[in-house]
Amino acid sequence: MTHHTTHNSLNWIDGELAGLERRELRRRLADRRGAQGAVVRLDGRELINFSSNDYLGLAADPRLTQAVRAALDSQGWGAGASPLISGHSDLHRQLEQRLAEFEQAEAALLFPSGFAANAGTIAALVGPGDVVFTDRKNHASLLDGCRLSRADVKVYPHGDWQQLEKLLQRDVAHSRRLIVTDSLFSMDGDVAPLAQLVEVSERHDAMLMIDEAHATGVFGQSGRGVAESQAVEARIPVRMGTLSKALGSHGGYVVGECRLIDWLVNRARPYVFSTAAPAAVAAASLAALDIVAAEPERRAALLDRAAALRRRLVDRGWNAGGSVSQIIPVLVDEAEAAVRLSASLREKGLFVPAIRPPTVPQGEACLRISLCYGHSREMVERLVEGLGEPGNNQSLERGCTTR
Ligand SMILES: *Cc1c(COP(=O)(O)O)cnc(C)c1O
Repeated sequence: MTHHTTHNSLNWIDGELAGLERRELRRRLADRRGAQGAVVRLDGRELINFSSNDYLGLAADPRLTQAVRAALDSQGWGAGASPLISGHSDLHRQLEQRLAEFEQAEAALLFPSGFAANAGTIAALVGPGDVVFTDRKNHASLLDGCRLSRADVKVYPHGDWQQLEKLLQRDVAHSRRLIVTDSLFSMDGDVAPLAQLVEVSERHDAMLMIDEAHATGVFGQSGRGVAESQAVEARIPVRMGTLSKALGSHGGYVVGECRLIDWLVNRARPYVFSTAAPAAVAAASLAALDIVAAEPERRAALLDRAAALRRRLVDRGWNAGGSVSQIIPVLVDEAEAAVRLSASLREKGLFVPAIRPPTVPQGEACLRISLCYGHSREMVERLVEGLGEPGNNQSLERGCTTR
């Protein structure tokens, strides 16, 4: 590591980083070699990988890589311009039509990432003089969208639609009102009460936007997400998903009415001012959507296995919070305890990342198990054995916060 001896205007960073180090909050990059999957080579070490969002095991599927090769031969690599100039290819158009069909919506719009989709969409829907209501546990990209919009931001307690309704009743000063929520929460693996949120939004004439990033491809009969599984899709005007997680590809998208998509094309700044993704990325996403349609057994098996794993962990005394999905937190309170437990699993060849502030609030650290279709019974067995029981670990004896 370089050591700076001369004083310059960035010296304050040294102190900040040292502070993170002391609180065990300093993050460092690991380098993966080879493909993403159930087993990965990370910093030179082979590990059973419970850290990826490649839930359906598609990131290295030969059908995706084959589609990319074919697209490269006809379209080259870089898109070279933003979509509104000359970056939007026929493959992007095809993917948008396919996403609209898949999601049973009038239209779809592709963004360079799910993060950009959230930030751009919220800021296009509300602005100064408006208000946005956001679940306390929403993903950072939704929160950043709220901030970027310069609308008033009101945070409601996690999943608490009754509290949300009170906030809406009391609120009279704003013109446009937007409610935003994850459908499947990325750290807790629990789901939002979408049916109630729909009712509340309709009663109070507020727009409702949901983020299906972790549910796309996994939840619902056809893999459209939590809104499909709760049969409320048609009543949610703004739905966002990602191609970067279960679909094993890259990019974010929004679906809804044509006028919504038209507005975003004109006003979502991360869309307007960012280069389109390479057309070959769209080709990979199209191949992934084919697999999601043709192989429903992947998502069904994944959710069954996740339920079985949760039962076993709870039987052993672990607290898996409100998880109902392939995302299973093991709650351990303090950041240091989470880091220690994660390190002990790593010694046993298992990669389960510790999640700590600022990703989660202070005192709510956990290990986040991300179960994927490619995990064999034997791999899951090693995980359960590796975790042992909470009582065996002194640092965990204080128990967990109730949420
Ligand atoms: C990962 C994630 C995003 C961002 O999607 P990317 O395609 O990875 O940029 C948005 N929302 C939630 C809830 C996420 O977990």
